[in-house]
Amino acid sequence: MPVSLLGATEIRRLAADLDVVPTKKLGQNFVVDANTVRKIVQVAAVTPQDRVVEIGPGLGSLTLAVLEQGAEVVAVEIDRRLAERLPTTALEHGVTDGALTVVCADALRVTDLPGDPDVLVANLPYNVSVPVLLHFLETFPALTRGVVMVQAEVGERLAAPPGSKVYGSPSAKAAWYGPWRLAGTVSRQVFWPVPNVDSVLVAFSRDAQPRGSEEERRRTFAIVDAAFQQRRKMLRQALAAVLGGSSAAASAVLESAGVAPTARGEELSIDDFLRVARAMGDAGRS
Ligand code: SAM
Repeated sequence: MPVSLLGATEIRRLAADLDVVPTKKLGQNFVVDANTVRKIVQVAAVTPQDRVVEIGPGLGSLTLAVLEQGAEVVAVEIDRRLAERLPTTALEHGVTDGALTVVCADALRVTDLPGDPDVLVANLPYNVSVPVLLHFLETFPALTRGVVMVQAEVGERLAAPPGSKVYGSPSAKAAWYGPWRLAGTVSRQVFWPVPNVDSVLVAFSRDAQPRGSEEERRRTFAIVDAAFQQRRKMLRQALAAVLGGSSAAASAVLESAGVAPTARGEELSIDDFLRVARAMGDAGRS
């Protein structure tokens, strides 16, 4: 039996049966349009060989579209009513027993997932989209690629190159793992309830080799945070506290990394930040 998708009427009926009134706190805007979930799955190029993890499956719109492709899905949902109902919805829609595993948990805290998923597909809860993405990339190295729907401003930031107006800490940290690209816009009208922000799809793929060790990643991210906390300041000032306690010490580290002490954080790529982190390590050892 082929997998069938959820329609708008069924989604509202399911929510009513479960007594679910979508909340802003949990970013509950459910997709009620089959074309949109099929488009997400198509952009993610999901195949039957993929083991997909979905964050926030909600009532299951996107989950069923991924399962329709024959992939296995692990879905992490914080709302117990939704998590408990999803396996039944899947069976009612023709999903083979065993193809879907639902984990009822806060995605920001999960550290263990069954089946080592390799693809992330999600319509993310907007209030936690960046921390949850970074948490997943850090915690699950088996994830090699993904497509997520996020608020337009967040998607633009994630995909922004150095030097662009919206380049910031999320852009630099996301780039640690590999390239990101904007992969389409999504109309507000496909959601219930209709949100007051625009949405985009963002795709990423993880680099074959990690940029650096876990220790280097931590140190690099601390420098990124410090650089963007005072983004208008030159790096020798913004990084004084983290690079030796004075702007003179910071200048010396920056120079040994080949970065101008008068530059600002928004000009640096993640590789530049990593060079600074490595130079800081070298300065600490000498
Ligand atoms: N995937 C569904 C869809 O496209 O219709 C729902 C997407 S809705 C934007 C976000 C979902 O994430 C909701 O089901 C919400 O309950 C869930 N959620 C919110 N915060 C979460 C968290 N910290 N961990 C796991 N799920 C979360």
